[in-house]
Amino acid sequence: MDPVIELQGVEHVYVTDREAVLALEGMNLTVQPGEFISLVGPSGCGKTTLLSIMAGLLTPSRGRVLLHGRPVTGPDPEVGYMLQQDYLFPWRRILDNALIGLELRGQLTPERKESVVQLLEGMGLGGTENLYPSQLSGGMRQRVALVRTLAAEPDLLLLDEPFSALDYQTKLQLEDLIAETLQARHKTAILVTHDLAEAIAVSDRVIVLAAGPGRIRKTFEVPENIRLTQPFYAREQEGFNELFHQIWKELEATERKEGT
Ligand code: ADP
Ligand code: MG
Repeated sequence: MDPVIELQGVEHVYVTDREAVLALEGMNLTVQPGEFISLVGPSGCGKTTLLSIMAGLLTPSRGRVLLHGRPVTGPDPEVGYMLQQDYLFPWRRILDNALIGLELRGQLTPERKESVVQLLEGMGLGGTENLYPSQLSGGMRQRVALVRTLAAEPDLLLLDEPFSALDYQTKLQLEDLIAETLQARHKTAILVTHDLAEAIAVSDRVIVLAAGPGRIRKTFEVPENIRLTQPFYAREQEGFNELFHQIWKELEATERKEGT
């Protein structure tokens, strides 16, 4: 199968009036259709930069990014980007927030509107269509943001720490919901997270990044018994703790190296 997205020798330098920061170097990554990948690494190692490049919001200083084999030149409706903060518009009702992407692209047909209503329902948000974001909990708002991202039917989802502002229980529920929704729709996803257990529980591959400059340090394949288990129960699977410790050690080594 052809990869969904491919990074070839991607490098990024941020230039400010005072300095130039090499944020990413020698990034090579190939993601296959239906794969769920997590990126973990110390803060400042270039995770957000990497997602912004894949989303077409930032042009890399060097290297190539191919989406379905075509060079990325800007934002593409096939790519959905969901940030840590939900960025819902407080003055728009929930359904109108979920529809905004389709509306802006002139793709709002009655069929699509209906499928967004169904999606809200499926996410446990039925009946909230006419409420305002301030009337919803953090977890519910985050689900609305996910529906909004899925509404445009992107086949690649980029998720930048979408759960980090949520309480633990809500986060576990959302992990399951997202994994299930993406699997049912055969979506490909790249998740940035600080939570190692979450990364292992939801992904097929966990990529550890090192900082200064940001680069791939090591890739861990998640064993099948964990991959095929719902995230909530994946944490109890055989081999989960061993993998957790292996990745933990790798992360620690990364941070120690930076400290020296
Ligand atoms: P992460 O998401 O892993 O925390 P980022 O991608 O945000 O890392 O940042 C990577 C590096 O690039 C950091 O050193 C950060 O300070 C720098 N950086 C990020 N955005 C900018 C910017 N707009 N201008 C200058 N430097 C930036
Ligand atoms: Mg970041």
